[in-house]
Amino acid sequence: MRLANLDGRLVVLRDHHAVDVEKLSNGRFGPDPQDVFDEWDAFAGWAAAADFAAADATPYDVRRLGPPVPRPRQVFAIGLNYDEHAAESGFVRPSAPLVFTKYVSSLTGPYTTVVLPTDTVDWEVELVVVIGRRARDVGADDAWSYVAGVTVGQDLSERTSQHAGPAPQFGLAKSFPGFSPLGPALVTPDELTDPDDLEIGCSIDGDPVQTGRTAQMIFPVGVLVEYLSSILPLQPGDLIFTGTPAGVGAGRKPPRYLRPGEVLRSHIGGVGELEQTFVAGA
Ligand code: ZN
Repeated sequence: MRLANLDGRLVVLRDHHAVDVEKLSNGRFGPDPQDVFDEWDAFAGWAAAADFAAADATPYDVRRLGPPVPRPRQVFAIGLNYDEHAAESGFVRPSAPLVFTKYVSSLTGPYTTVVLPTDTVDWEVELVVVIGRRARDVGADDAWSYVAGVTVGQDLSERTSQHAGPAPQFGLAKSFPGFSPLGPALVTPDELTDPDDLEIGCSIDGDPVQTGRTAQMIFPVGVLVEYLSSILPLQPGDLIFTGTPAGVGAGRKPPRYLRPGEVLRSHIGGVGELEQTFVAGA
């Protein structure tokens, strides 16, 4: 199932058409794309039996899609979760997950225009995990059963403010407006042959800059859920940005950052694509 946010309403996407969940469920499930996670098991059960083929389905413009998870309670992000990216960033392989947050106000839909606040904004394509059930002290082997689905994210990063202090700080530098595009849809794990091994990458104006596979994560999804849930409860609708593969601009010699007019396309195999166009700040 591919679940999305179309003009603020919860929809299921099928063959370039959208089915409105509130209408098809006769109001059993409301229109708010966030509320569905608080009754995810009931929703998944309903959806498994629903007759989407016979439902009213309308074509849609991808530019009207909002973030599939618009108001998560918690947004976790993992730094240095791929060996080659840790190396290009000048760090050794972490012995435990490096965790920070991206603030909710930076979330947007998948097709956007982003203002560049400085000339040192970088790209980081990431698999984003969406939690479907409250998770506390969950083992890695059980972790996927607590996951509603996955989506594509960009962890856009303003490198100057990230490195302005005596130690790197991540939260604000990665939370300028529009710095967390998400989508195009939440894809449930059953749609994917192996949700732990997905092709991931991004390109600028058609030139590939990052390529990898999510199987290269140092701490895979199961371990991340185990680690985070050993410290605090994960709540339905929470997001985990799982880290980026090698190929970011800061790792190049000389560094190379996003410029006004450039178009960044980010993709994950079987999940979907994001498209960001950048414009100069005022
Ligand atoms: Zn990142």
